Amino acid sequence: RKILTDRINRIEVSATMAITAEALRLKSTGVDLSDFGAGEPHFATPQHIKDAAIEAIQQNFTRYTNVAGIPDLRKAIVDRHAADFGSAYAPDECVFTTGGKLALFNAIQVLVDHGDEVILPVPYWVSFKDIIQYAGGVPVFVESKESENFRITAAMIEAAITPKTKAIILNTPSNPSGAVVAPEDLEAIVRLAHAKEIYVLLDECYVYLTFTGEVVSGGSFKDCKEHMVILGSLSKTYAMTGWRAGFALGPKQIISAMSKLQSQSTSNAASMVQRASIAAVHGPQECVAEMRADYIKLRDRVLEGFKTIPGLTCTVPQGAFYVYPNVSSFFGKGGIRTAADVAARLLSEAHVVVVPGEAFGTTDHIRLSYAVSADVIDEGVKRMREFFAGLK
Ligand code: PLP
Repeated sequence: RKILTDRINRIEVSATMAITAEALRLKSTGVDLSDFGAGEPHFATPQHIKDAAIEAIQQNFTRYTNVAGIPDLRKAIVDRHAADFGSAYAPDECVFTTGGKLALFNAIQVLVDHGDEVILPVPYWVSFKDIIQYAGGVPVFVESKESENFRITAAMIEAAITPKTKAIILNTPSNPSGAVVAPEDLEAIVRLAHAKEIYVLLDECYVYLTFTGEVVSGGSFKDCKEHMVILGSLSKTYAMTGWRAGFALGPKQIISAMSKLQSQSTSNAASMVQRASIAAVHGPQECVAEMRADYIKLRDRVLEGFKTIPGLTCTVPQGAFYVYPNVSSFFGKGGIRTAADVAARLLSEAHVVVVPGEAFGTTDHIRLSYAVSADVIDEGVKRMREFFAGLK
């Protein structure tokens, strides 16, 4: 008699988590790592957000709340989104979740049935594929081209649509490439999906870390709201990864279904985290702009460093905090055949932590998170330069 279900066997442990675990193990043995593995801000959570959580605890705001989140929080989230992007959601079109990943997971659970196809641009964030498969859905990959800065167009999406297509996942800015879907492409995709009654699941987890100046949310195309679910997260915007604070905005029917699922699983996100999240989205926003400005400097620093590594090429990321360099010129040197080999050897020989592109659906790249200090970038780039130079 088999122990585990088919559905749990359809998915794998998150590749980024596996790398983090190995890095932690090495660290615990005293190895000094240049760690570009984990996708999380190196900044501390801003003080006013921490204070709000502490105050909530002191006031004994420590009980169950509404499953979908307290009304003040849901109002604060939709107000912030409306102010920043011109969207129009009511508080009951918002559900607050224990992290943005759960918002995505629940949205897919309520929208995707066995055999439904979900269009997924490549490279993709690791979890998208597994979450679709866990729901019984079939990911349909749409390859983007590095030579076109990983651009995704409506024509590319349209070519992948079949009668079974239920949803399209878009993540802009992208983890892992840092590519931003151009506003005109985003609008064309949202309109195409709306016309075909296909749902756009728009992962805006890095939307505030857009470096192009022009930031457009799918939420601004209000007439297409019916076929769109926006997935948000406070993790990266406010340096709150460990707090587990995310949300979804979408049609009432979908949001209610997600809340129902949540009522039978996690229930509400932690009460004090909800209060802290009100402080985050309703409070001063200067911290967001300051962190964004720092990420731009760090991106430029890492790209400058890469120029000193012969054979390494890299697109210029327009957002998030990842670089996705191409390492294929090293294949065939020093016994290296794949990006996974590069990542494994960088870890064991140079003590540099990166994630192989295979985790994101491409074979020629590695991903580095530059949400680290300038010193870590300088040391890590030096180690990489020496490692690659030593490959014969
Ligand atoms: N979406 C993308 C593209 C991400 O990279 C992440 C985190 O790395 C998430 C969603 C989820 O973030 P969280 O669950 O911390 O809100």
